[in-house]
Amino acid sequence: MTEKACKKCRLIVVGDVCPVCKDSELTKTWEGYILMANPKDSQIAGAIGAGAPGKYALKIKQ
Ligand SMILES: [Zn+2]
Repeated sequence: MTEKACKKCRLIVVGDVCPVCKDSELTKTWEGYILMANPKDSQIAGAIGAGAPGKYALKIKQ
């Protein structure tokens, strides 16, 4: 199973559509990830723009 990262919100997605953005702009070229449990309470979440709990790519190569 290939994990892809959403280019818009950086969420790591298994499948072809980001469940947050409902968008299929995904990329396989990403590096590193962070787990976000409570985005509303996290400064990191604010920094990378994470709005929902999940796994987020740290670096996305376009
Ligand atoms: Zn997304």
